[in-house]
Amino acid sequence: YFIVIEGLDGSGKTTQIGHLRDYFQSRGEACYITAEPTELPTGRFIRKVLRGEEVVDPRTLAALFAADRIEHLFHAEHGILAKLAAGYHVISSRYYFSSLAYQRERVDPAWVASLNRLAKVTLPADLTIFLDLDPDVSMRRISARAEGTELFETVDKLRQVRKDFKQAFTDFGQGENISVVDASRPPNEVAEAIGALVKGL
Ligand code: C5P
Repeated sequence: YFIVIEGLDGSGKTTQIGHLRDYFQSRGEACYITAEPTELPTGRFIRKVLRGEEVVDPRTLAALFAADRIEHLFHAEHGILAKLAAGYHVISSRYYFSSLAYQRERVDPAWVASLNRLAKVTLPADLTIFLDLDPDVSMRRISARAEGTELFETVDKLRQVRKDFKQAFTDFGQGENISVVDASRPPNEVAEAIGALVKGL
């Protein structure tokens, strides 16, 4: 299966991906964990932009995320398609809904959608989980872990991104298996909810 975990920063994506890996391992099934931006050259350049070390036009950044996803999907060795073909379950922290949610603020959403259509026609996820969290709680969790750049987030911005995620699911998620999971609960309860969704596949 190809499973995507989406959510605001601080929504618990990394923790829940760890639980999913344990779940598949306990069943003796191999699973490959990946993320966007990737660790490939395109993703490394994007991280520089996100850290403010390189400056590009917001449209360029949107195009870079789409380019990074092409690498993420089609890379002969590290790509999602290659890993699925090799028999792994693939779990990705973020996929095209993140691009639609985060980029639509500064770039024409229809253009962002067209940039991301290749991925949607090539490989929509078998299950997309949105870890839904109140932006105030997300903000508290981000501040507690105090990771440099993310501290520039504001609650208003997180609120907007949460709305934009929901809009992206409506506009771009047709025909897909998308579940919104309440991520304000204790991690083990969230993991149980996700486990039930995965067993339903
Ligand atoms: O998950 P992580 O914090 O590493 O993501 C970094 C940022 O990259 C996100 O906050 C988001 O702004 C952006 N992003 C994006 N489109 C993607 C993946 C990430 O805009 N597909």
